[in-house]
Parts: sequence; C-alpha cells; structure tokens
Amino acid sequence: MSDSTTLPETFVTHLESALDGTRLPGDSLQTLHRDRPLWVRYDLEAIRRSCTRDQLRDRAPGMWRYRELLPPRTSDSIVSLGEGPSPLIPCPRLGEQLGLRNLWIKDEGQLPTGSFKSRGMAMAITMAQRFGVKRVALPSAGNAGGAAAAYAARAGMECFVFMPEDTPIVNQYEAVLAGAHTFRVNGLINDCGRIVREGQERMQWFDLSTLKEPYRIEGKKTMGLELAEQCDWQLPDVILYPTGGGTGLIGMWKAFAELAALGWLDSSTRPRMISVQSDGCAPIARAFQAEERFAEPFANAETIARGLRVPAAVGDFMILDAVRESGGCALAVEEARITDWMRQAVTAEGVSVCPETGACIGALEQLIADGQIRPDERVVVFNTGAAQKYVEAITTTLPHVDLSQEIAWSDIEP
Ligand SMILES: *Cc1c(COP(=O)(O)O)cnc(C)c1O
Repeated sequence: MSDSTTLPETFVTHLESALDGTRLPGDSLQTLHRDRPLWVRYDLEAIRRSCTRDQLRDRAPGMWRYRELLPPRTSDSIVSLGEGPSPLIPCPRLGEQLGLRNLWIKDEGQLPTGSFKSRGMAMAITMAQRFGVKRVALPSAGNAGGAAAAYAARAGMECFVFMPEDTPIVNQYEAVLAGAHTFRVNGLINDCGRIVREGQERMQWFDLSTLKEPYRIEGKKTMGLELAEQCDWQLPDVILYPTGGGTGLIGMWKAFAELAALGWLDSSTRPRMISVQSDGCAPIARAFQAEERFAEPFANAETIARGLRVPAAVGDFMILDAVRESGGCALAVEEARITDWMRQAVTAEGVSVCPETGACIGALEQLIADGQIRPDERVVVFNTGAAQKYVEAITTTLPHVDLSQEIAWSDIEP
C-alpha cells in the first residue's frame, strides 16, 4: 500500500525509440535517436496501484493535475502560465448545418498564447530547465515560436526563433514581444529547422523543434487526458485534428493507450482519429492514401493554415500508425475553401476557430457525405488556435458609413 509520502518522485521508467524500441535512460535530456523521435515510458502498473481517477477531483484544474502521467519530478519547478482546461463546447447549430447531432469543439484557442502549443512548450521548457538548459532555439511556421518565446521568458531562458518570411504577423510580434531573438527566413519550416541544427555547436542552444525532444508530446498528451475526463471517461467516436508535425494527434493517441492500461476508460472503444491537412500541404494524407508508413516531402507546400505547412514531419510514421490503429483516416481538403469553413464555424457558434480547424470542418463535410461519419456519432473537433491570431486570413473590406451624408439605412439593412 502506498500513500503520498511513499510515492516515487516520478513514474517515468525510460525513453524508448519510436522507430526501433531502443531504451534510453528516463531522466535525461535527449534529442532524436537514429534521427527519429523518442517516447517517454511510465510504470503504468505502479501508477495504477498508487492512484485512481477519482483522486483527480481534489486537484487544481489544468494540465498538471495528471502529474503521475507526466515527466516532471515532484521537486521540479513547473514553468506554467495556467494551461487549461480548455472548454469542450457543444455546437448544435454547426452540427445541424453539417448533419451531426453530437458535435463539440474543444477550444484550445483559449490557452495561454492562444493555441495548444502552450501545453507542449510548458512541458518542454520545464524539462529543459530541469536539465540546466539556458538557451533554446526552434523553427516555427506559426504558434510554436510565440509559445516557446513566452515560456522561455517565464523560465528566464534565452530563446531563438526562425520563421518563414510569410509567417502570420501576430506570430512574429508575439515572439519579439516576449524577448525572443526572432528571425525571418526565406524558406519553409524545414529550412528554418536546418539553421537550428547547424547552429547547435556554435550557438550552444537546445533544439526545441517538434518531436526532436521527447517532452513536448507529453504536454500535448494532456489534451487527450483532459478530453477523457471531460467526457466522463467515455471517449467520443471520432476526433478531428489538424495535422502539421503531428504531436497533438500522436500525443492524444498515447494518452488514450495509457488511460486504457490504467483501466480508467469506461469503454474499450477508442475514437477514430482523423488527421486533417490542406491539399496545399498534404504529405500525411498522401502517404495514408498510398498505404505508406513514411511520408514523402511535399513539394511547394502552401496553405493559409500555417500550422499545417509542414512538408516533412519527423514523426510521420507515428501519425500514420496512430491513425491506422484507430481505424481513422488522413485526408486533405480544398485549400481555397478553408477560410469559408472557418467563417462558417465562427458565425454558427461564436467559437474563435483558426484556419487549421476550418480545414477540419471541411473534412467533416466530406466524411459525412461519404458516409464515413454517421449523423448520431459523437464527434469532437479540436480548435488548435484562436482566430484573432490570423489577421491575414480574416481581413475583409468593411462597408463604410459616411457621417458627412445622411445615414443610408437601406445599405445597413441585411
Ligand atoms: C502547430 C499547429 C497545428 C499542427 O499541430 P501538430 O500537432 O504539430 O500537428 C495545428 N493548428 C495550429 C493552430 C497550430 O499552431
């Protein structure tokens, strides 16, 4: 029998290569193994013995309440800006438009820095700090840079961010505002990643790139843990997730496996995971269709949904494995319609949906039309970021009221 005084400091047992299962020491700063990501593994049997899901009720809200399933030790200082929970919002009006009776949006746009990236960065920076890192660097096509900058500032660390030139302006400003050394690069996110890799020795920074260290994914895993708790341990039938580097989807799938091993889920059925991309950048959707385990780099990647503009993902096989194991699919939607879907969702429900999630609305339309999602299924769409960060996607010319004239009410009437 154990009580809180005899709990081990951490339930992490080791790190494990996602490619070949090689074991590496758990409590260590790591990057890739054979150029591919690592999993954090836990002693789930010990967690099962030492804690129950009912004990969560007495804990503070937010992602750190799942501490047994997270890598920090109890003695570590947590770098936090107040992560979650994000609300799970019922969307009956949008559901009716699409032909669904049970549709929810989990609104990650309400997290610190306006996207789910804060979960991963809170964890990665917490762990980097534990291992004495003073300087971090990363490539970012959007929200990761701002989140890294904010959490680095919170931890008193130095941060370098390299962004494609056409990264949304708000993402550029938020990184600069939080004091990160921020650079615009005339290339894509993979080119920015090369700068971070090549600069490692000279600049002595730690590479925070998506999946190049094992802890960001553990932060993103909390989306799945939180969703399970919010659904009263009955997971939905279908989850739609916009996919770039894939940590969100991979992390959630890992969360469900761990919860199942703990016996915390009330049903053995797990959601079908739907990985959504734009046809302007669809390496994962294409590999899924071609029944490949690894994705070919996508040429001339271009999409307004900047979080999806990842032409080559280092965790491609992890995304594809999760999608296939779940019985889900990966698909791409029409780039030209993304802002219309985004507008449809925001107009229908008032939830501040980003273009990436707009793509998920398009995917829903398609999957319902194809009969792959049935009207009575419980569907959760993740809104990964806040619409207001995408001024480029939402600018429009407003009609003007000229006060030097009499007000023309006929122009104002809808
Ligand atoms: C980063 C990002 C994504 C893609 O997330 P991954 O987990 O890397 O696939 C989707 N939407 C938004 C808003 C993002 O910032």
